[in-house]
Amino acid sequence: MISVEEALNKILDSFSPLGLETTSILDALGRVIGEDIYAGRAMPPKDHSTMDGYALRSIDTGGASQENPAILDVTEEIPAGTIPKKRIEGGQAARIMTGAPLPEGADAVVRMEDVQKKENRVVIFVEERKGHNVRYAGEDVRIGEKVISRGEIVRPAEVGMLASLGRSFILVHQRPLVAVVATGDELMDIDEPPSPWKIVGSNSYCLAALVRECGGIPLQIGIAKDRREDLLAKFRAARRADIILSSGGVSVGDYDLVKEIMKGAGNRMDFWQVAMKPGRPLAFGALGDVPIVGLPGNPVSSMVSFEQFIRPAILKMLGHAHLFRKTIRARLDEDIKKRAGMRHFIRTRIRRDKEDYVAVMTGDQGSDIRMSMVRANGLIILPEDATIVRKDSMVTVQLLFDSLDRMPTPGY
Ligand code: AMP
Ligand code: MG
Repeated sequence: MISVEEALNKILDSFSPLGLETTSILDALGRVIGEDIYAGRAMPPKDHSTMDGYALRSIDTGGASQENPAILDVTEEIPAGTIPKKRIEGGQAARIMTGAPLPEGADAVVRMEDVQKKENRVVIFVEERKGHNVRYAGEDVRIGEKVISRGEIVRPAEVGMLASLGRSFILVHQRPLVAVVATGDELMDIDEPPSPWKIVGSNSYCLAALVRECGGIPLQIGIAKDRREDLLAKFRAARRADIILSSGGVSVGDYDLVKEIMKGAGNRMDFWQVAMKPGRPLAFGALGDVPIVGLPGNPVSSMVSFEQFIRPAILKMLGHAHLFRKTIRARLDEDIKKRAGMRHFIRTRIRRDKEDYVAVMTGDQGSDIRMSMVRANGLIILPEDATIVRKDSMVTVQLLFDSLDRMPTPGY
């Protein structure tokens, strides 16, 4: 039996970021960019107005006020997206719209609200300083500037930046293909009629959902009977994946064949059993050169093991620098007793209590109790050596969601 850390290190060492592929910027959302992006154009491309108003020479408004306005001749109208035709000379101004290029000679824009139009002239009641309401070329982004670095996650802001630069495609790390194989004679698929002797092999769906949630591509191989040939056939079908996940068949039962196959010729078993609860009977190795994780069959165990080992491995393949779920400190809501020796992951529902978080257990902690996961939004992590953890003591909780802090109201 090895520790959670040892198991994690062994598993993570077996994976590296996958190669790069080209994708549209919208499909790149949430993925890790594999190239540095340099601006091939300036933004804005030309000096332009940030207001609807009049472009003018600031010097012509010197001393202007409500009582003593400046009066300028209007030369032309410059809507956004058009090219100014005339240069602004002393005593002149041009009607200009937000985003339109500044005409030659002008160095400021006075807002619509601070002027009065009088036929071909404009009456200006304020003194305007040079550069006011003007955005200079390259003020946002200079030509040649690095705007996104490889390794960063593409968010909507990056998508907008890439679009502004005229980039419709970029390089991102490939998404790993994750094969999921269920094992067990007692398993049936969702759409089969219920039977007192059978249960739905729900792990295939749950694990596929976990894979998709963290950015991998699940490949559901189906259910293998507890027979060598059937299991081998299913594993053969999974060999094109970047990682194979099996569920069940890794305990000490007579029909637990996954380990046996991992130990067979051409395959490898690196370790079996991790000092954690739930999730102890986990096997790791390779079938040929494809890494395989034999996850325990109990629904909660397979989810908790996925969270500790598979999620970080998938994120590493996706090129992410940060592989782990956020943890918080929370106040325990009741005493918890455990035996020393293993790390325990206790399903909890975290709730906010003023400035604190409170960790409430989600009931029966059996590794076959699905409701304990449905109710949970985190896992309390109790260290190996702990035997009793008292109510009101502070514990570490691994969040099962990226954010706990969604608000029922906008919060302002
Ligand atoms: P095993 O390790 O194969 O003995 O499985 C342990 C427990 O998990 C048994 O009660 C199985 O019925 C259950 N189990 C195994 N595989 C699945 C699955 N794919 N979906 C739901 N439960 C499963
Ligand atoms: Mg089984």
